[in-house]
Amino acid sequence: MNLRERLELIEERIETAAKKSGRTRNDISLVAVTKTHPPQLLQQAIKAGIADFGENRIQEAEPKISELGRSNVRWHLIGHLQSNKARRAVQLFDVIHSLDSVAVARRLDRNCKEESREELPVLVQVDLAGEANKSGANESDVPDIVSAISESRSLVLTGLMTVPPFFDDVEEVRPYFKRLRDLRDRFQEQGAFGSRSGDLSMGMSHDFETAILEGATIVRIGTAIFGEREMPI
Ligand SMILES: *Cc1c(COP(=O)(O)O)cnc(C)c1O
Repeated sequence: MNLRERLELIEERIETAAKKSGRTRNDISLVAVTKTHPPQLLQQAIKAGIADFGENRIQEAEPKISELGRSNVRWHLIGHLQSNKARRAVQLFDVIHSLDSVAVARRLDRNCKEESREELPVLVQVDLAGEANKSGANESDVPDIVSAISESRSLVLTGLMTVPPFFDDVEEVRPYFKRLRDLRDRFQEQGAFGSRSGDLSMGMSHDFETAILEGATIVRIGTAIFGEREMPI
């Protein structure tokens, strides 16, 4: 199968899952995860209709973004963000899915001001399993991060994101998706997302259908579109 065919298949699967969850294809955004892949492949993806790319590392994303530009696609930072990279993130990315601390929220906001960026959409990444080696905020820290965002000048909280532990059996991952949805609902009731409904960025190649059934509005898919990565990160 070539890229276009794999993408068509993914599109069909997203649509089927969306319908099963009482929604339509348009209710779900697809972020194509392009870490480790070269710019030529991203060019092909753009031709095949992709408009959103997810990258994990600023350093790796930088040359791709300068080659492909900002006008035809949206760039999503989905990997861990450190304070000292916040300015580059503000300069390069359209959306940040991986905000996980008050300190980084404040730094991003300061950098937005300095870079004259009016608005930066962010999602708070939540580590629901308490996996120490993973990025993401503990659930108990999320309220403080949400407050820091609401007090900020430029950050706009658009939703929550999670990377659950890997299970061979996708049914085991379902409770994590449910928990993120519950958390989103709670913050929504508090008005944390303003007038919009908060996004749920959850679901990867092996579990995106389950994520959609549990309410995902953004799925981040790499392998199922582009094939196995040679250097897994
Ligand atoms: C790599 C990655 C993905 C995509 O994973 P696949 O299994 O290749 O679909 C999604 N989200 C994050 C945060 C990632 O690091």
